[in-house]
Amino acid sequence: MSLSILVVTSQNVLLSGSIIPSPATLVVDKSSGKIIEVRNARLSRANFPELLDEDWLDAGDKWVLPGLVDAHVHLNEPGRTDWEGFWTGTRAAAVGGVTTVIDMPLNSIPPTTTRENLNIKRTAAQEHTHAEAKPGADPKLYSTFLDSRPEQLETDAISLVIALQKKYPLQRCHIVHLSAASALPAIRAAKAAGARLTVETCFHYLVLASSGIPDAQPQYKCCPPIRDAANRDALWDALMDGTIDCVVSDHSPCVAELKRLQDGDIMKAWGGISTLGLGLSLLWTEGRKRGVGIGDIVRWTSEVTARHASVDDRKGAIKVGWDADFVIWDPEAEVKVTKDNLYFKNKLSPYEGLTIYGKVEKTYVRGRIAWDASINGEGLNPEGRLI
Ligand SMILES: [Zn+2]
Repeated sequence: MSLSILVVTSQNVLLSGSIIPSPATLVVDKSSGKIIEVRNARLSRANFPELLDEDWLDAGDKWVLPGLVDAHVHLNEPGRTDWEGFWTGTRAAAVGGVTTVIDMPLNSIPPTTTRENLNIKRTAAQEHTHAEAKPGADPKLYSTFLDSRPEQLETDAISLVIALQKKYPLQRCHIVHLSAASALPAIRAAKAAGARLTVETCFHYLVLASSGIPDAQPQYKCCPPIRDAANRDALWDALMDGTIDCVVSDHSPCVAELKRLQDGDIMKAWGGISTLGLGLSLLWTEGRKRGVGIGDIVRWTSEVTARHASVDDRKGAIKVGWDADFVIWDPEAEVKVTKDNLYFKNKLSPYEGLTIYGKVEKTYVRGRIAWDASINGEGLNPEGRLI
């Protein structure tokens, strides 16, 4: 009995270990969903005479990239399914080329199991509850919110983590959603000294800047806040030099009422930005202005995040033995973000109206199609799996 295979070929496949796409052909075993062969050439249909047409996918010069592994997503199900759920969340992910989401429960890392970790949690809690507007400040102004969350709070919390790590050097620590560039020197020094420290930042800190944020628009509110353009530049530099390891969405939606769109009260609004599925295009749009290549972007959003989530034995790369989780991507397509092309449950996003580059044409998860833009996903029955 012959294997049931899917063959994918393109002029531009981003293979594991490469920084730019190159011609390649992938052979996928449909029953296991694994890549079983990679050939470094764009083969023709004639090389596979017995293959059924439906099992042949020629992407032409479109790019074939590993699916993204978004290692920090709040799906809120069960419990707050009206904020986000598995169906809407994973659909939004597939539309944007994200093939693995790691749900972040709304609790803390490190777990609150020791007195030291409790102190970390307290510091983090201070950031959330002691941050108040100056008396008389207008709660609709973005600057009021920004002033209430100074960089120093973040820097202090990170310094505490680093100090504790010196005491317990075997303890692995991960800094979530880094926003303050002022914390980078301490992180750089700790890493240079060999600390088991990893750091993530989020798409919004790399794409948006406070000077471009309108007042009374709480869809831009997240904690810690989006800071100024110089801060954003420093985060990009830190990604390039490895001080920051990876980029995640921290997709953190809520219902419109809690986002306070009715009165624009940024101080009272839920802090969280909805990004799931937009990350690849956002990073590509901003990154290529800065001369950043797709290889780096995929490394930060797929390869490193897979390692962080301990699924790097099967996710985060296009290579033999790995799951056939990949994206057919048109890097030049221009897409305007509208409610119609947002697939998460509550369509509130700071990116609405923005034109971004790069479009996911198809997304495959373990060799099965999970999104096809040409049919708007109609009739597809993607099969997600818990990992
Ligand atoms: Zn989060």
